[in-house]
Amino acid sequence: MRNIRALLLFVFILSGCAFVDYKTDYHIQDGLLVINNKNLIEKSVIPLRGEWLFFSKELLTSKEIEKRTRESNVKMADLPSTWNDQLGSADGFATYALRIQIPKEKIGHTLALSTRFQSSAYTLFVDDMRISSNGFVGTSKDSTTPVMAPRIGYFIPKSDAVLVILHVSNFANVVGGANQEILFGQANAIVNYNVDQQTALLFMNGSIIIIGIYHIVVFLYRKKERPFLYFGLLSLFIAGRSLFVGPMFLQMQFSQLSWFLLMRIEDTLIYISVLLYMAFIYRLFPKETSKKPVYIVTAMILPSVLLTWVTSPGFFKSLFFCVFPLTFILMFYVVFILMKAILNKRPTALLNFIANLLFCFTVINDYLFEKGVIETFIMTIYGFFIYVVLQAFNLSRSYAQKFHESELLSKELIVLNTSLDEKIHERTLELQDKNERLKQLTELDGLTGINNRRYFNDHLPICFRESYVEKWSLTLLMIDIDEFKKYNDTYGHLKGDDLICYIVNIMRDIVADRGVISRYGGEEFAIVLRKMDQDEARGLAEKIRSSVENAQLEHKGRSDPHFATISIGGTTTYMHLYKSVSAFVETADRALYESKNNGRNQVTFL
Ligand code: GH3
Ligand code: MG
Ligand code: MG
Repeated sequence: MRNIRALLLFVFILSGCAFVDYKTDYHIQDGLLVINNKNLIEKSVIPLRGEWLFFSKELLTSKEIEKRTRESNVKMADLPSTWNDQLGSADGFATYALRIQIPKEKIGHTLALSTRFQSSAYTLFVDDMRISSNGFVGTSKDSTTPVMAPRIGYFIPKSDAVLVILHVSNFANVVGGANQEILFGQANAIVNYNVDQQTALLFMNGSIIIIGIYHIVVFLYRKKERPFLYFGLLSLFIAGRSLFVGPMFLQMQFSQLSWFLLMRIEDTLIYISVLLYMAFIYRLFPKETSKKPVYIVTAMILPSVLLTWVTSPGFFKSLFFCVFPLTFILMFYVVFILMKAILNKRPTALLNFIANLLFCFTVINDYLFEKGVIETFIMTIYGFFIYVVLQAFNLSRSYAQKFHESELLSKELIVLNTSLDEKIHERTLELQDKNERLKQLTELDGLTGINNRRYFNDHLPICFRESYVEKWSLTLLMIDIDEFKKYNDTYGHLKGDDLICYIVNIMRDIVADRGVISRYGGEEFAIVLRKMDQDEARGLAEKIRSSVENAQLEHKGRSDPHFATISIGGTTTYMHLYKSVSAFVETADRALYESKNNGRNQVTFL
């Protein structure tokens, strides 16, 4: 385990003070440290783990210890270890002692002993000289002041043997005894080791805090991203809690803070971290998470937080050790959720699963370590550091993917919009064409293709008004095929249609763009001639009539002549000669009837 820690430290700070190998390099037995490797003390930090002399319920000086060792067999106790295991009770006071053989060349050099704390007050002496302490060691609850802060004690050995004495007392914590290891080495090695530990912790904590703040800020700008909020807060809480472990940065900076207050803060941070962790997983995989376990955990943790602040350490620490294992069940549940998420092929589920397993492992380790069940070291900070990096990778990746998807969608939308615009434009043009065509169809005659009566009825009043306003003359010709009924009777209606078309073509050729021809009905036609006076119009009418006559279109159905002819009636208006359009049309019609009555095949103007 030490090797793993050394490796982690190496990875994070690329330097560090290597631990040494127990037994080959040194060992501690019968209250004596024996160093086998001469170079060991030069650079290394030696954990003073092993059998120390142990005097329960006594606080002894070096002389008393020497005397006792001469007189009788002295008990041994492993350090670190707890009184809970050794004596069956956490409360009490005791003396631990260890003889150290100092290499000759180190006599007169500054050496050091470093320890994080001992539960829950201690004093460390070297040859009866007090070199470091935490709180005040007493023989009762009232005379003991518990403090928890890492200390380094320095001493200069005057001979080749020194006696290290440790007084410990506990009447506050649920774990009692010399439960933390003591490190021994040259002063610079010990200091370097502590600085390295702090550097690693601050490096990881700094990274976690920045990642935490980043995720919270993303949430503040995008309130929908709830996982970002929970993950950000969880990061900050874990970073806050990690200041209590390892080199115990917080205790060092605020060593005047009460031991109880620090414990309360630490436990609260852990409880709330559990809640945030659960909320985060729930928000990340809502479909895979059921709400019941979430409520149960919340219902357990919130009262625990309250009790942590209102009860004595004996109670809330025991409560912590009861409640916290239940969160392991939560962790297994989370593993189950993540496995479901992997099966459901949810993005980020696999990485989450791996990160989670790692984190779970470190949390369980810390719990067992704090209970004194295993001898490892506090790992949550490392586990969570890896967890945070993987999660940050996860969240950023899925966020970037969402961005990418929305970018693609908006591009597609732009393309769709553009093509839609084009399509609308095309369809509008088509529709305009069709409307135009429809309008023409409603205004055109189906047989001849010239304008029909509807068009004539609309068009003539417009021309009539314009001619008056703009002061030009307007002529209307009414044309009727002579004895057409007989033609139909003789040749049939289809041939009759052909004759109508033929005569229309003659009229078209002659009128061209000088006037507008309409089929008035049956075999009758109207020609509106704008800006044309009566003489010119009469000439044009005559030309039409004669052209039909000269075409010599056979019409055997009539007695004389034996070819088709037309009769034309016309009239011209100028400056309101006619008061109304109908009067104008009636006159042209009357003129046509006059032509008929006068023997047909002629032009009459009224
Ligand atoms: P009039 O010289 O007095 O004009 O004698 P008419 O026979 O030409 O006059 P009438 O009005 O009695 O007959 C017109 C005929 O035109 C009646 C109808 O059968 C025929 N006709 C009307 N429209 C069409 C058409 O579209 N095609 C054909 N083939 N015949 C039509
Ligand atoms: Mg007629
Ligand atoms: Mg006729």
